[in-house]
Formats: sequence, structure tokens, C-alpha cells
Amino acid sequence: MAEIKADVVVVGAGPAGMTAGLYAARERHKTIILDKYMPGGQINLTSRIENYPGIKQISGADLAMTLYEQVTSFGAEVKNGAEVLDLKHRDDGLVEVHTDDDVYLARVVVLCPGSDYRKLGVPGEDEFRASGGGVSYCGTCDAPFFRDKVVVAVGGGNVAVEEAMHLAKFCKKVTLVHRRDEFRAEKVLVEELLEETKKGVIEVRYDSIVTSINGNERVTGATLENVKTKAQEELPCDGVFIFVGMDPNTAFLKGLVDLDENGFVKCDPVYLRTSVPGVFVAGDCRANVAMQLATAMGDGVTCAVFMKEYLRNPDWWNKGR
Ligand SMILES: Cc1cc2nc3c(=O)[nH]c(=O)nc-3n(C[C@H](O)[C@H](O)[C@H](O)COP(=O)(O)OP(=O)(O)OC[C@H]3O[C@@H](n4cnc5c(N)ncnc54)[C@H](O)[C@@H]3O)c2cc1C
Repeated sequence: MAEIKADVVVVGAGPAGMTAGLYAARERHKTIILDKYMPGGQINLTSRIENYPGIKQISGADLAMTLYEQVTSFGAEVKNGAEVLDLKHRDDGLVEVHTDDDVYLARVVVLCPGSDYRKLGVPGEDEFRASGGGVSYCGTCDAPFFRDKVVVAVGGGNVAVEEAMHLAKFCKKVTLVHRRDEFRAEKVLVEELLEETKKGVIEVRYDSIVTSINGNERVTGATLENVKTKAQEELPCDGVFIFVGMDPNTAFLKGLVDLDENGFVKCDPVYLRTSVPGVFVAGDCRANVAMQLATAMGDGVTCAVFMKEYLRNPDWWNKGR
């Protein structure tokens, strides 16, 4: 097992990680970015991004490749197939980052392992997600692609309720499917939603689940089941939006850095410092983040800018805490 020294080790080569790496490498820090798969993160899964400021439209793969070329052009090293399994802050102030093959010794670590959308696990979900055929997990990202279309939305929390109302600004019809007889979302949001239903665009189906997403090359409908009566219904639609939560990729951090009750990494909101000195966090894996490309990149910038303070003076870590 090799021991590799670096100024900065970044965990995850998604938008947050590559941005942190870009800034760190341009500061002439020896920077290594580790990813368990390949560079790009979640944006590799989308063919069209239209809300990244300054670029009208780009595919996720093109943006990932551009980021990769940019970050490596400044000397950062990106390692694929390097899953981080463990992390340890040492008495000498360095942080050990363990993968299966190597141990990295870093002055600063930036955690950017992202999150995964929780899936329904029904037939058609993976197929129509992978092909861009009408399954989405992000209304903010994809609602404009469903202008004047009919969609089904699934979920009962704050995100589901807010996203259903967002979809209604674009779609002809939104059927919000919720498995219980009342929403988990905050009361004020539910009241707003029920007010919106009076306009006729949003319809709520309580006590119901989606059991399959149907279609050929694109989604043409969803099968709904009433959990009380077991009655099934075919609902024609052009898309299915799934808002049943996110799972952060932070299992390997349990017991090492402070996580919130849902597994997101806790940090101070200004400098993005975690509970472990020298370990910052950026992007979709951190608590209270907007879960967008631009915010993930913004986090990466924040970490890289403030790591300079820590590298100059380690006592800075506790400033303002
Ligand atoms: C289909 C889809 C479409 C989207 N469309 C848009 C859009 O149009 N606009 C928008 O703003 N946002 C969009 N998003 C959201 C956006 O992609 C995310 O907010 C953004 O990618 C988060 O960046 P991140 O770097 O925090 O995490 P991620 O992109 O999730 O990257 C995390 C990286 O960390 C790696 N990793 C995880 N665990 C480990 C480990 N233990 N060791 C090493 N590496 C690890 C992963 O392999 C991954 O490469 C979309 C997301 C999806 C899935």
C-alpha cells in the first residue's frame, strides 16, 4: 500500500470536487481528486443542462469533460476507481485518506461524494431515466422540458409539494401521487398546494403508489395502485417526477465526521468546515444545500478560498465557533 503526500485531497470528482480541485491546483497546491467511478458525478446522467449560468445549453457529459480538462490542465491529478473508505485526522495535523490501494496524507481534505436520488424501484424507472425518456428526479432542472405536457409527480414531503407547484407553472396537468392520506410537508406548503389544486392543473391522489412506469421509447403512462382498495389505474402521462428523498454518499464517514440525522455532513454555513480540522465539505452531500450544479460548484470555490486561511494558520479552524 503506497503512502502518497498531497496538499489537498478531494473526495469525489463531481462538479463540487472538480471546482475545489481547480481552485486548489491554480493556487499551486499539489491536488489529488479521488473518485470511485469517473469524473463528472451526477451530471453524467443528464443530456441537457439549461440552468448553468453563462452557458445556454450543454450536455452533462460535455460539461464533465470540459471540467476534467480544465482541472488537469492546472496540474491536479484525477484518479478514477479510487473509492475512499476511511478518513483519519492525525496528531501531526495531517489527514489520512484511505482507499483500497493507497493512503493519502493531506493537509486539507474536501469531501464531495454527492448524493443519490432515492428511487421508487418500479419497472420502467431505470429504463426511462437512463434514456432521458421522461423519468426525472429534479423539477427545478427539468420542468421546462415538459411545457404543456401531462406529468405524474410522486412524494409527500416539502420537496414533492414545492416541486409539484413548480411543475404546474409549465405543465398542462400534474397528478401528485402520495402513498398516505395526508402530506408530511409543512402545513403552510400543503395549504398553498390545496389552494393551487382549485386552478385545475394539479390533482392529488392520496393513498396511492406508482407501481410501474410504462412506455416505448418515452414514457406514455404510469400504473397507480390505491394502497387501501388495491384498485389499479392506468394514467396516461408524458413524464414521471420522483421526489421521495435523497441519500447522501456518506456511509464511509459515519463516526468520522459529524452527520445529521439523514446522513448529510454537518458544517458551518459560511466556511463549510466540518467537525474535523482540515476537512471541508462541498456540494450535494452537505446539510442544507440547494442540490444544484451551480451551488455545488459555489461550495467548491468556498472551500478552496477558505482553505488558504487554514493553511496559513491552523488556529483559524475554530474562528467564530
Ligand atoms: C439526471 C440529473 C439531472 C440533473 N440536472 C441538473 C440540471 O439541469 N441543473 C442543475 O443545476 N443540477 C442538475 N442536477 C443536479 C446536479 O447534477 C447535482 O446537484 C451536482 O452534480 C452535485 O455535485 P456534487 O459534486 O456535489 O456531487 P455528485 O455530482 O454526486 O458527484 C459526487 C462524486 O463523488 C463520487 N464518490 C461518491 N462516494 C465516493 C467515495 N467514497 N470515494 C470516492 N468518490 C466518491 C461519485 O462517484 C461522484 O462522481 C441533475 C442531477 C441528475 C441526477
